[in-house]
Amino acid sequence: MEYNQESGHVAGLPVPEPCVSFWQQTTRSFPYLNVNKDEQVPAESKYVIIGSGISGALTTYELIQGGVSSEDIIILEAREAASGASSRNAGHVRPDAFRGFQVYKQVHGADQALKIIANERLVFEKVDEFVKEHGVQCDFNPATTFDVCLTQEFADFNAKSFKEYKEAGGDVSHIKFYEGEEARRVTRVEKAVAAYEWPAGSSHPAKLAQWLLTQSIEKGVRLFTHCPATSVIKSASSTADQTLWDVATSRGTTKASIVVHCTNAFAPHLLPQLSSFVTPNRAQAHAFVPPAALSSSSMLKSTMSLRHTLKHFYSVAQRQADGIIVLGAPRSNPNVSAAALKSVLLPDDSAFNEEVRDDAVTNFEACFPSCAKDKLKHGEGLLHTWTGIIGMTTDSVPFVGRIESLPGQWICAGFNGHGMARIFTCAPGVAKLILGGSWEDTGLPECFEITEQRLNKLKEGVSGSVF
Ligand SMILES: Cc1cc2nc3c(=O)[nH]c(=O)nc-3n(C[C@H](O)[C@H](O)[C@H](O)COP(=O)(O)OP(=O)(O)OC[C@H]3O[C@@H](n4cnc5c(N)ncnc54)[C@H](O)[C@@H]3O)c2cc1C
Repeated sequence: MEYNQESGHVAGLPVPEPCVSFWQQTTRSFPYLNVNKDEQVPAESKYVIIGSGISGALTTYELIQGGVSSEDIIILEAREAASGASSRNAGHVRPDAFRGFQVYKQVHGADQALKIIANERLVFEKVDEFVKEHGVQCDFNPATTFDVCLTQEFADFNAKSFKEYKEAGGDVSHIKFYEGEEARRVTRVEKAVAAYEWPAGSSHPAKLAQWLLTQSIEKGVRLFTHCPATSVIKSASSTADQTLWDVATSRGTTKASIVVHCTNAFAPHLLPQLSSFVTPNRAQAHAFVPPAALSSSSMLKSTMSLRHTLKHFYSVAQRQADGIIVLGAPRSNPNVSAAALKSVLLPDDSAFNEEVRDDAVTNFEACFPSCAKDKLKHGEGLLHTWTGIIGMTTDSVPFVGRIESLPGQWICAGFNGHGMARIFTCAPGVAKLILGGSWEDTGLPECFEITEQRLNKLKEGVSGSVF
């Protein structure tokens, strides 16, 4: 284990001193942010959930809903509560409506590609339903989103995906298409060549994660913050009937029969067999105070993705709660230097890249000229920049389910910077499996399952990237 004495950082784990995102800045009063930060972990705990992001928080919530006693669960979190990607994203709950179909089809086949897209639509509906049913105060705003095609090249790509998706039997009844002047009018983007619109939303992701954690903690789940799990090894007390796991942490070792890895980008640290298939990448987002032209009754009603190519795109989500616009930056970007592009590969969310920031703001200004620097008053414009680490998988889908070679260990990780459109079915899915359900019960696309067969296929080099 590579350990940096000065920073206290163990290579492969989240850095101990990350930057503070806009979402974290606005939730510093969360009472469980640093809960149990000095406590030793118990010697035994039946269920150990590693990671307190939306995956870990929702898996825990669903296990309790399924009848597991909350006293039997502990959550280990390397840093503050939910301080990974779940509190650092761009706020979009935005299903892919058809765009990724042609790539998914090549990697997973048409049937799975249809299921992947259908699952994302379902996630949006589930988040909407969940937030309404429980009155979760997470600024969730169900609306629509635009895929704004800024180049003919991307308009052609999207048209091909749309056609292939529809011909394969995909439902497009909820998707609207606009061209030329009409696309510019509905999106308000002067450079739009074409646009597609479908239902999607945005939320305050940290508030959602914190709400979920609160429900479990108040029922008796113990969350140990600033407590990274450093290894999971077979316990000497395992019997012929039951394998037990020693989960070592910075504050003692706990013995468990069920271990759930909700560690997203950092999954390979405890599961080195995934190291070639889950890669941490740094993503960057920005908060922008709008000028009058995008405030009050002139706010953007829909979120959007401003797309030059499949991978060169910028997300835009204006918060209904306060009008702040959240801008997501691309990881693949022809406008920035090789050094800036390389910064994307750093699994370090303590800093951000200035070139990436300036490019994201310049692109936004080009699409919305009323936001150009020379038109802004003091107090308008860029408010904050932050980064977070996303878990890219080689086949663009997450790893969910039972780890066949490690009985009692489960995973829900590898969300490709797209977890808000996936976790709300994956985490309930993994909880169902742990409680004895079948894969069919999860309703998830089969290609999400972490089977030996999938891992062998990936070893052979099968890959395809949508993100
Ligand atoms: C800048 C940015 C923009 C994004 N924009 C969007 C978006 O608009 N829409 C969207 O759908 N998705 C977006 N994402 C991705 C989305 O945030 C993630 O897919 C999602 O939050 C993953 O949730 P998670 O719970 O699986 O992982 P995380 O939230 O990363 O949680 C994993 C947790 O595990 C902890 N951990 C890791 N290893 C250990 C260990 N060994 N021991 C203890 N704890 C450990 C981490 O500290 C972390 O808190 C974005 C991400 C970033 C960074």
